[in-house]
Amino acid sequence: MKPLWLILVWLVPAVAWPLDLCLPTGNDALLQGRDADFFQPTVGGEVESGMFGCVRNNGHRLHKGIDIKCLDRDRRGEPLDPIHAVADGEVVFINTKPGLSNYGRYIVLEHRWDGVAVHTLYAHLSAVAAGLAAGQPVRKAQVIGTMGHSANTREGIAADRAHLHFEIDLLLNPNFSVWFPKHDPQAPPFGNFNGKNLFGLDPAALFREFAGNRKMNFADYVARQHVGFTVLVSGRQFSWLRLHPEQVCQPAQTNALPVAYEIAVTPFGVPVAVWARTAAEVAPDQLRRVPILNRVDEAGIETASCHHLLERGRAGWHLSNDGREWVELLTYGP
Ligand SMILES: [Zn+2]
Repeated sequence: MKPLWLILVWLVPAVAWPLDLCLPTGNDALLQGRDADFFQPTVGGEVESGMFGCVRNNGHRLHKGIDIKCLDRDRRGEPLDPIHAVADGEVVFINTKPGLSNYGRYIVLEHRWDGVAVHTLYAHLSAVAAGLAAGQPVRKAQVIGTMGHSANTREGIAADRAHLHFEIDLLLNPNFSVWFPKHDPQAPPFGNFNGKNLFGLDPAALFREFAGNRKMNFADYVARQHVGFTVLVSGRQFSWLRLHPEQVCQPAQTNALPVAYEIAVTPFGVPVAVWARTAAEVAPDQLRRVPILNRVDEAGIETASCHHLLERGRAGWHLSNDGREWVELLTYGP
């Protein structure tokens, strides 16, 4: 029999752990409005290129995290900044072979903030803290590694541009490790913690909001994210519904079975709400054509110009090949 305390811990709802964050390095210029001291630009030098969003290749490529400037270097110019876990959580993945990923050497932590399963990713590290391994718990502000400039790209990252690439992500599918090798036999051995399965929110926006309101609720924060479009998928169950019950709105009539799910998505592929739709809400011809793009926020999608999930044809917007693949991954179950 399980001890009583274990049963009690298990019964406490996940909301018992509220959002409690610190910054991932000693650089806190973000919170003083000194963006130029906080964001590490690309070689082009514009501060914006270190921020989240359509900031790369003249706005055509998404930067799915933020690049944080180095504060401390040794005599050879190599970075020394310790990297901190931004919150209590668990180590779920460490890539110790920098040549295998454009993240270089990276760590992924899993957290549960106000009931939401979320991951933080720390990339381009020069070293992982001694003894740190997947499966271990970490505490907020615990040192998990050292800043670096590791990467697999041909041009690499020069030491003078050493930075922490940091992401706050939602994991699209816990079955990614089964799905992905079917699409890419050369898939690196990162399991579910491949960047292609991690869809990001803007970390700088979250840090700023948390600094202004330490009682903010992360589930509400996700629900408030800008929705670029909604997609209608079949009524078959998929893992997201089970892993993100906080997002799922069931039909008003509890005895009505869902025939489809409508998913609201940020322009960059993070689902933020899911509605179970009944036969009364979905036309039969729509149901035959799922997955389909249901609603688009034209203005929002235009400003997020580097998204790849939608395309505009003569008949208006539709899911691109990337968009259809995104739906396939989201709803995939072995
Ligand atoms: Zn970056």
